[in-house]
Amino acid sequence: MYFVQRFLDKTTMYRLMVWFLVVLLGWAVAASAVGLLPYRWWEVLLQTLLLVAACRLVSEIISRIVGATQNIESAIISGLILSAIIGPVSLAADWHWLLLAAAFAMASKYVFAMRKSHIFNPAAFGAFAAGLLGYSASWWIGSVVTLPLVLLGGLLIVCKIRRMHLVAGFLAAYLALLFVDVFLVRGGTVADIPTLLYTIFISSPILFFSFVMLVEPLTSPHTKRWRIWFGTVIAAVMFVPQWVGMSAVPLELALLVGNIFARIVSPDFRQSFVLRKKKQLSADIWGFWFEPMKPFSFFPGQFLEYTLAHPKADARGVRRYFTIASAPEEKQILLATRFAASKGSTWKKRLGEMREGDDIVAGKVAGEFILPSDPKRKIVWIAGGIGVTPFRSMAKYLLAKNERRDIVLLYAARTEQDLVFRDIFEEAAKVGLRNVYVLSEADKIPSGWTGRTGRLDADMIKAEVPDASERIFYISGPEPMVEGISKTLLDMGIPDRHIRRDYFPGYA
Ligand SMILES: Cc1cc2nc3c(=O)[nH]c(=O)nc-3n(C[C@H](O)[C@H](O)[C@H](O)COP(=O)(O)OP(=O)(O)OC[C@H]3O[C@@H](n4cnc5c(N)ncnc54)[C@H](O)[C@@H]3O)c2cc1C
Repeated sequence: MYFVQRFLDKTTMYRLMVWFLVVLLGWAVAASAVGLLPYRWWEVLLQTLLLVAACRLVSEIISRIVGATQNIESAIISGLILSAIIGPVSLAADWHWLLLAAAFAMASKYVFAMRKSHIFNPAAFGAFAAGLLGYSASWWIGSVVTLPLVLLGGLLIVCKIRRMHLVAGFLAAYLALLFVDVFLVRGGTVADIPTLLYTIFISSPILFFSFVMLVEPLTSPHTKRWRIWFGTVIAAVMFVPQWVGMSAVPLELALLVGNIFARIVSPDFRQSFVLRKKKQLSADIWGFWFEPMKPFSFFPGQFLEYTLAHPKADARGVRRYFTIASAPEEKQILLATRFAASKGSTWKKRLGEMREGDDIVAGKVAGEFILPSDPKRKIVWIAGGIGVTPFRSMAKYLLAKNERRDIVLLYAARTEQDLVFRDIFEEAAKVGLRNVYVLSEADKIPSGWTGRTGRLDADMIKAEVPDASERIFYISGPEPMVEGISKTLLDMGIPDRHIRRDYFPGYA
């Protein structure tokens, strides 16, 4: 598991998806060549190449015309997904359908967009548009031959982006409605169940759909609760129309309806932020203050997705998530981050090079790592290093609102210099914050240090938080630290529902 986690940390969701689809389609080409799949291998190969090239080209042209930042990997992913769900076509006769699907998929990102954020899953839109014009998606990728790879790659993707609840919610709703359909609507019997399950989960595209298309973050809701509803709505759209005498709704159309639902319950935006100030906060931590072009609302503790296009991007790509370290009451958006001593990513290099006046694209404000609505709930904030950013936002918010809360902050860092934002936490003592600082590097403890030293372990937590069982714990920091402290808390008898986690992958 450790190696899988390391691997997932080292790549971005987009890069992982590209590789997964390339391997899956490569396997489909090979399986077709040896007769395991009933297609001509060169047709699968050629349509994949054509679709990827067409999506890239159309995306390039449109983004130049409208002056938008494009994510090259997104266009490649759309081309690869389209290749898995339409055809395989004979290029000589049907090449124009591929071009149409690719053009509609890419154009949909710009035509059907609100606040610079597209509404529809592009591949689903391309397949739907081609279907409307006369060439329906075959969803040929659903097959027992491709199933092991779909499962393996799909599980890696949902682990990476933490969307297991969405896939599980959708599949549970789908299965429940399928049983209603078979037993109550069509009068099936128990003897039909094995064939039904085989058809649905082994030889149909439903798992590919769930693991690859359903989970696309930009077109699904931003909270867990709404994501589960999103999966349920899509499953319902697949069945209910048939029960009222309408024709069956294809998968791609059901997803598009779900995308509209997602946009209604989770409005989104993408906009440019202009860099107004950058400041070194410690030896390797910098703060970047951006001014949004239009005001937007968020809760303290939420995060944004930033896109910073740059040439020769490394394997981690051009997008990153960062907590909004400022409070909603501050005019500017603060991004605070640590720069690696060596071998940092090209993304961070580009960020570090930004000058005042430069802009960055940000959007998709999301996150459930927010203060409990009941101000009387007693809280513990546990921060590891740069994981302190959501707590800075919350502390600033409490100060701005003059809202008192009973909070213990356990803030662990390597050296005293790494304890950034201490002035804000000290000031927040007047609204109920009790600060406990922990330094881990034994040989760098300054003389006269009155805080804690060593590892933040169960004994330290028990000593500093004697009423731990009455509190909600918020843990934020690098993934191994969050996992480690969560385990410590669970071992101490703190129920899982009292532990909230914010992971900072990439620092493992
Ligand atoms: C919801 C959320 C909120 C977040 N909030 C914050 C925040 O407020 N502040 C913050 O700093 N981070 C935050 N993160 C993490 C952030 O998104 C980055 O993952 C993190 O900053 C690492 O950045 P980086 O990948 O550019 O790597 P770097 O910071 O440049 O490097 C980090 C480590 O990765 C290694 N590394 C770098 N590039 C590669 C590569 N191509 N292949 C292999 N290893 C490489 C480096 O050697 C180094 O050890 C958040 C993440 C999430 C999901």
